[in-house]
Amino acid sequence: GHALRLDMVTKHYRSPGGTVQALNGVSLALEDGTFTAVMGPSGSGKSTLLQCAAGLDSPTSGRVVVDGLEMSGGTEAQLTRFRRGRIGFVFQHFNLLPTLTVLQNATLQLRLAGKRIDRAHAVQVLTRVGLTERLDHLPAQLSGGQQQRVAIARALITSPRVMFADEPTGALDTRGARDVLALLQEAVRIDGRTLVMVTHDPVAAAHADQVLFLADGRLVGRLADPTAAAVA
Ligand code: ADP
Ligand code: ADP
Repeated sequence: GHALRLDMVTKHYRSPGGTVQALNGVSLALEDGTFTAVMGPSGSGKSTLLQCAAGLDSPTSGRVVVDGLEMSGGTEAQLTRFRRGRIGFVFQHFNLLPTLTVLQNATLQLRLAGKRIDRAHAVQVLTRVGLTERLDHLPAQLSGGQQQRVAIARALITSPRVMFADEPTGALDTRGARDVLALLQEAVRIDGRTLVMVTHDPVAAAHADQVLFLADGRLVGRLADPTAAAVA
């Protein structure tokens, strides 16, 4: 089946100037083991799409099904538990807690969900992202690329079927971005996870299997097998 499905999703915001139609009937269906990049001008609805798809916000109308669960069907508590246990998130600014160590940040979702922390598993995941030597460091002691790799470990640790990344390379230098993209690609190619990534960066988008283009809250184009040149 599909790891992620959106059917005619709309999102309207009320603002002082009137109603903003951030999403206008977006439908998509993503298979397991696929990597989709979402691009489009500022204000085209990319973040709103990601928030609605990930259950961080509710659509005004339409249906969102993630890993078999209809997101509009649940209570807030059920959604929170679902997001913590079954979805991985990677943000532009890492969203690590500054007072927690690398190991504590990586296992935060498990702790919040009241699950037992399997230290050996956590170390294994952190080894995979190249942070074995940094387990007890605080975020401020790490480079941006290293911090984003902690965030990727935090996302991977529950083995989610679906992962979301919002501009994951937006705050990184070239080398940090390259490492992060390789890890995200590996999560798809090797582990078969489904990844949706919003990005402005053609180099990042070229790592995906397809690029979807958004304008004025609608999907207006699709590019299969992107290369950086084609995306730019
Ligand atoms: P993008 O990520 O492509 O820049 P967004 O999804 O952030 O686009 O925004 C889409 C539209 O919705 C924009 O017109 C934006 O101003 C508006 N918007 C986003 N969030 C809100 C909000 N919380 N309240 C009002 N308008 C919003
Ligand atoms: P809650 O904090 O009640 O879980 P949120 O809407 O803030 O609800 O976040 C939902 C999920 O999104 C979290 O469980 C987590 O998986 C992810 N998330 C959101 N913000 C953060 C953050 N700052 N750091 C880590 N994960 C986050």
